[in-house]
Amino acid sequence: MLIIPKNNGSISYVTLENTIIFDKGYLEMVKVVKFGGSSLADAEQFKKVAEIIKSEDSRRYVVASAPGKRYDDDIKVTDMLYSCYKLVKENKDIDEAFKLIEDRYNGIIKDLGLDFWLQPEFDRIKNAIVHHAGRDYIASRGEYLNSMILAKYLGYDFVDAEEGIFFTENGVLDTEKTNEELTKILKEHTHAVVPGFYGVMPNGTIKTFSRGGSDITGSIVARAIGADIYENWTDVSGMLMADPRCVKNPKVINTITYAELRELAYMGATVMHEDAIFPVREKGIPINIRNTNKPEDAGTMIVSKVDSNKVDTVITGIAGKKGFSVISIEKSMMNAEIGFGRKVLEALENHKICFEHLPSGIDTMSVVVNDNDFLPVKETLIADIQRKTKADNISVYNGIALVAVVGRGMAGVKGTAGRVFGAIGNAGINIRMIDQGSSELNIIVGVAEDDYVKTLEAIYNEFVK
Ligand code: ADP
Ligand code: ASP
Ligand code: MG
Repeated sequence: MLIIPKNNGSISYVTLENTIIFDKGYLEMVKVVKFGGSSLADAEQFKKVAEIIKSEDSRRYVVASAPGKRYDDDIKVTDMLYSCYKLVKENKDIDEAFKLIEDRYNGIIKDLGLDFWLQPEFDRIKNAIVHHAGRDYIASRGEYLNSMILAKYLGYDFVDAEEGIFFTENGVLDTEKTNEELTKILKEHTHAVVPGFYGVMPNGTIKTFSRGGSDITGSIVARAIGADIYENWTDVSGMLMADPRCVKNPKVINTITYAELRELAYMGATVMHEDAIFPVREKGIPINIRNTNKPEDAGTMIVSKVDSNKVDTVITGIAGKKGFSVISIEKSMMNAEIGFGRKVLEALENHKICFEHLPSGIDTMSVVVNDNDFLPVKETLIADIQRKTKADNISVYNGIALVAVVGRGMAGVKGTAGRVFGAIGNAGINIRMIDQGSSELNIIVGVAEDDYVKTLEAIYNEFVK
């Protein structure tokens, strides 16, 4: 992506594929900037964040996470808060654990030289935890307190997410109400910090999104204020072609579509929460993933459409995760038995299990499920499937990792699947499952968990090196 300042003070964002994202007067522009936990882990990081924000007048709405890890085996404040909840559940004292949380925030306040005092907030929160406050309320205090400090440091208003982000009775985001109310509230503030990760239920209790959910808050705020761009600042220079913890120095993806990002994020590219694209996608607001520690890097631009003739690699990225099982069901003449699939899915539904994939053959049907949901109900679920389908044989394969190869450039390019399978085969890895979406946006393979990293490397090297 190129950022082209013009003489008249306006600015153009042009992707490497020469798609102009926008071209607008600089002074009119509004950016929503979200900073993740590693970007706000200590005072040094706060200073970098403030410098980034102050370097452009357009960065007026800020979404903040709780303090994350300062070093590898550090503990995120969100996890420290979950531990306090657990201690209370076990009727244990939280004095020591809570003191560590206070120390994290007091350290930041002191090192920033702020004349600011959060003790009354600490006392109120600790009292609520001791009196069995809800798990989500407790976890949300990490972003609540950090955002108060950031607002003070920047001289921005603090706008609590519980005033403007609403969930329905079913615990899903109430998009309409949130948009309406949040837009009204934000219009009253020219500059504001909003805590990420949480909102409020109809009964007034706090509810959080799933882990990493501050990315969703950033997207909601961007949509509510009608931002020109949603910048998501983290500790890597964009969405990388593979998980940097598995593949050495993977390339940065310059431009990616919302659909590709969702696939990669869902399949384990945790740099961005997979649900964060929805609020901005509706309005076509581009997301720019940037690195707080290297603000000079252009990062990754996420947009609705990119000309597929202008891709430099056939694949856009690779992602994966461990912790799956394959339930393989065999029955002769399954192909002619009407309602067979329904019976299997009904058994899954009865056990409240979502399936990830359903690859099938003539007389076999496989169901790929997440171990977290499946293992606790394994015995009764298999018995239920057996009873309903009268299968000849049901086998379960545990310890499966799924790897997704994603790319808008794959559709219609002959031989892509062959190259994926060839690379995996040449690395001596046995493929346990294959699935390809009809949109040809992804190819998903299941391999043994022990082969996970080797599989990512083999595919990466085939297409990138
Ligand atoms: P934040 O605290 O800013 O929200 P996260 O830890 O949630 O940051 O996400 C950033 C991390 O995501 C990176 O440090 C990296 O280890 C991990 N990650 C996994 N897959 C990818 C990928 N494909 N591209 C970039 N980062 C990735
Ligand atoms: N602090 C929350 C978490 O650790 C939310 C976030 O960082 O986005 O999951
Ligand atoms: Mg994150």
